Amino acid sequence: MIRVRFAPSPTGALHIGGARTALFNFLFARSQGGVFVLRIDDTDKERSNIEFEKDILECLDWLGLTPDEGPTQGGAFGPYRQTERIDSHIEAAKKLESSDKAYKDEKGTVRLRYPEDEIVVNDIICGQCHFRPISLGPEPVILRSDGTPTYQLASVVDDIEMKITHVIRGQDHLTNTAKQQVIFEALGSELPVFAHLPLILGTDGSKLSKRNSEGLVSVREFKEAGFLPEALFNFLVLLGWSHPDAKEQIAIDEAIKTFSLDRVSSTAAVFDGNKLKWLNGWWLRHLPVSEVAEAALPFTDKWQAAIKNRGSKFWENAVSKLRDGFSSLSDAKNIAELLIADNIEVRDDATREYLTEETREVCKKVANAWISLIEQMPTSPDSDSYSEQQFKQLSALLKKSTALSGKALFQPLRVVITGALSGPELKILVPLLPREMLLSRARGFL
Ligand code: GLU
Repeated sequence: MIRVRFAPSPTGALHIGGARTALFNFLFARSQGGVFVLRIDDTDKERSNIEFEKDILECLDWLGLTPDEGPTQGGAFGPYRQTERIDSHIEAAKKLESSDKAYKDEKGTVRLRYPEDEIVVNDIICGQCHFRPISLGPEPVILRSDGTPTYQLASVVDDIEMKITHVIRGQDHLTNTAKQQVIFEALGSELPVFAHLPLILGTDGSKLSKRNSEGLVSVREFKEAGFLPEALFNFLVLLGWSHPDAKEQIAIDEAIKTFSLDRVSSTAAVFDGNKLKWLNGWWLRHLPVSEVAEAALPFTDKWQAAIKNRGSKFWENAVSKLRDGFSSLSDAKNIAELLIADNIEVRDDATREYLTEETREVCKKVANAWISLIEQMPTSPDSDSYSEQQFKQLSALLKKSTALSGKALFQPLRVVITGALSGPELKILVPLLPREMLLSRARGFL
């Protein structure tokens, strides 16, 4: 039975690099009928925090990467927090000391004894990696002087006891692997298969950081910025792996069906924020509209209660008509204001600049003509809004009565209705707005 683990340290929020590691472990497990374990590597007591553990769990769930075994799920190989497994670690350290594979130094810490020979790690992504023990720095501490185990020891002991068959993690762990391989061997255990994932770099070729990743690094930040989990999942799966048919839009089921470690690249992957935005737009247009509407609702901010009052059908209909213009769920806020506010303010600098004394007069003229046309045209009895057809009639009449046409007519009309120079097409937006609201906005402009 294939068993893999994602082993984050709860010393910070789930980073997208960590999420990519979790994702590849998850996909490997799912594609092989294996088990995906979450182990919390909390050996650094000072920096570990239960709030970060919660963040990791929530963000994994949000991405659809819920573990099969872990601190909340439980399982036959628990406990799943390293600090709850200390007895096994200490026992293993004793075993290593008594077989002279480890020794106590003058400071009272227990250190691993390196072999004389080169350490050769066989990695299924990176190939054979050779390490001279001397190049790995001082022999690693496995028990601190206070008797507590370190990550290097705990990781190996837990991997053995949890029957982990494949260790899949970032290439930044390669030197840890060299050290840990020595521990596996010293404990007389079979080695797991090692698969080290390519690093993720920013578009500038340097290590991923806020500066080269759109100012966002944690999964929660991407979530709060309005990215759909489907889009982030899709983006992450392509960071180091490619679909056999070079597909770019990949849902979770498709990824499970087609994933294999032999399509994982050994060279660094580049974080391309534009691609993430593009994928987000694609998923916003292609997911079932009810899902997008639900995901967008929390982004409607102070308009949320009013949107809810209008009923879920109203919001779903609006999202289905307007989502072509969405690039992020956070666009829902603008849209909500457009749909709900009785009076609309001028909404951006470009529009403020546009509104000189002269253009304001034109807008007023259009608003007056628009008001009298609306007053003369009732909506159909079963609706409080105009149909697209009626909006076209109104536009034709407006053209006549103002003697304006094209941009010269529709730009002022758009400003009167929406408070901005750009936004959804009026023939789509106007049928979503009650006639009374059209009137009150136009009157408000005068
Ligand atoms: N807990 C460590 C980390 O978050 C190590 C993970 C591992 O061994 O895979 O980087």
